[in-house]
Amino acid sequence: MASTPSRINAASRLSIAEQQAKPPMTVSIVIPVYNEAANLTALWQRLSAVAAQLPDWEVVFVDDGSRDDSLKLLSQIAAENDHVKVIELARNFGQHAALLAGFRECRGEVVVTLDADLQNPPEEIPRLLEQIEAGNDVVGGWRAERQDQPYRRLASRLHNRVTSLIVGVPMHDYGCMLRAYRRHIIETVIQCDEKAAFIPALANSFAKNVTEIRVGHDQRAGGHSKYNLLRLAQLSLNLLTGFSLLPIQILSLTGIAIALLDIAFAGLLGAHRLIYGPQQEGAMWTLFAVLFFFVGLLFLALGLIGEYVGRIYMEVRRRPTYLVRAVHDGRGRP
Ligand code: UDP
Ligand code: MG
Repeated sequence: MASTPSRINAASRLSIAEQQAKPPMTVSIVIPVYNEAANLTALWQRLSAVAAQLPDWEVVFVDDGSRDDSLKLLSQIAAENDHVKVIELARNFGQHAALLAGFRECRGEVVVTLDADLQNPPEEIPRLLEQIEAGNDVVGGWRAERQDQPYRRLASRLHNRVTSLIVGVPMHDYGCMLRAYRRHIIETVIQCDEKAAFIPALANSFAKNVTEIRVGHDQRAGGHSKYNLLRLAQLSLNLLTGFSLLPIQILSLTGIAIALLDIAFAGLLGAHRLIYGPQQEGAMWTLFAVLFFFVGLLFLALGLIGEYVGRIYMEVRRRPTYLVRAVHDGRGRP
């Protein structure tokens, strides 16, 4: 897509004099990388072509403990390009922790995030920037035609509904990492320093003007997805407990409702006994059913409480969210 700086500026509806007075916007593109050696060369080719059209830019790759040749390839790219920085994490800390590490190292007024597997076309970046220049704090990508397996699309739909509800900012696609943020949002996200942060939701909870645009989505160019069902479930649970007390409040309300029903049930049993006298048949099975229901509920309650206690435990331990082993850039560091 042939997007030029002039096209970006056109969207901001500023006069030519105002545009000339404005210093060029620095854009940082932050990319988490975990075992993506198969995709990095093609990614860099496409990304650098897009970035070259921007007035001032940098790319921050975060190597999240890759065990393939990713770090080697990234170091080569960084050695040849002043615009590129590579943060080498000491082991695999997860995509969102890697993004946080990138946020701390980048300096752009606008920060764009992107996956390394070419599912998010880098050519969409200028369109995100247009929306930032139009006054938005956060611009989300919406993968309207998503190239993932049906179960992922279904899980994602549910995920988006729940996230929209608990964050209070409705969006079609919270899972899309092709996004742009203004500096002040990134600063706040950094300050939160959460152990199990879900960046798009966290960022939206601080933003005033949020928008989303439809973006292209391709199949993974090479390698395979780092998320299985278990990891996706963990991410959703983190999100749910990390953003609201709603689950535990629903549980308390359910408890109250059940207690009220129980009183009614006891009244009914008493009346039955008064009218028909004592009976044995069937009562045992009813009691079993009631008992199992309560046992299930108790387990759910314990699990949820455990989830919150677990999160508190993670926070009070104050272990670092990630550990940087080295920073490589075009100026001969480390
Ligand atoms: N990723 C990462 N650390 C991880 C898992 C993933 O840095 O522990 C990166 C990965 O290299 C990719 C992005 O996060 O750039 C998204 O991962 P993936 O494509 O596997 O997720 P999916 O598209 O299947 O949701
Ligand atoms: Mg992917």
